[in-house]
Amino acid sequence: MQDNLNNGIYTIDSHYAREQLAAVFMLVEGNQVALIETANAKSLPYVKAELAKHGLQAQDVKYIFLTHIHLDHAGGAGAYMTEFTQAKLVVHPKGARHMINPAKLEAGVIAVYGEKFVAEMYGKLESIDPERIIVAEDGLEVDLNGRRLICRDTPGHANHHNIIIDCKANVIFSGDIFGVAYPELMVNGAAFAFPATTPVNFDPQKMECSIDLIMSLKPDAVYLTHFGRQTELTRLAYDLKRMVRDYVQIALECVNADDVVSAINLCLQEYMLSEVSKFGIDLSPDKILGVIGMDMQINAQGLVVWLKSNVVNN
Ligand SMILES: [Zn+2]
Repeated sequence: MQDNLNNGIYTIDSHYAREQLAAVFMLVEGNQVALIETANAKSLPYVKAELAKHGLQAQDVKYIFLTHIHLDHAGGAGAYMTEFTQAKLVVHPKGARHMINPAKLEAGVIAVYGEKFVAEMYGKLESIDPERIIVAEDGLEVDLNGRRLICRDTPGHANHHNIIIDCKANVIFSGDIFGVAYPELMVNGAAFAFPATTPVNFDPQKMECSIDLIMSLKPDAVYLTHFGRQTELTRLAYDLKRMVRDYVQIALECVNADDVVSAINLCLQEYMLSEVSKFGIDLSPDKILGVIGMDMQINAQGLVVWLKSNVVNN
């Protein structure tokens, strides 16, 4: 049985933006289901298809976890909660109120990405009934048909970020705090991972602490939302922490540029092309930037927000 091999964990491609960019994870314990992440509302048919494949129905979904409320993780929450009528939404205390009233969240995302993009990707965000929300304080434990799932507060990428520990499988769903590793950038099965320093709560020290917390829990695997199961955790953790420090150094070196975002973006691109090449990935710069270009633009924006609140510019 496939179930015995993967502990009832299924990685669903949400098809958010492109293939294998953002995952929704499905955990099955007996006839009960937990979902982790919701991508956007357009991802719902892929989740329903996966449920059907296993003979499961909408009412079997008991919990929907969000690692954090950035919209590539939480954009589909309203639509999912409407579809899965028996589910509770499990979300960080700093994210819960934005799920109840998404107007401020929507306005913030429009400010970064523009109205057209937000309308196309997410439609109108639906508010969620507060009675169906479980506020996941650090250490909150959820029981999925006897299977223990524990939320841990893990700031650094966002201040509303939890990881979810699956005690039965001894794996962690890391959202964006353990970096991003796209399948396009793999060599002989080894993943190339890099940090996500998205606006507006990137904090390098907290990011390193959260990476250390994950490693201290000694998981057998970490599931990245972008994208999928990783097992070479010691190497990934080392490289992520090294890159966080390099990103910060790059940001500091660009602090006096006329256009700081563009300057950091260009330096990040150059740095990443060199890292990818050192890792042994044989792709043209255009192809590589086609995969990670948008991430570098967003990372540059996040680093500028961090610079503004942490570095005195004289
Ligand atoms: Zn994020």
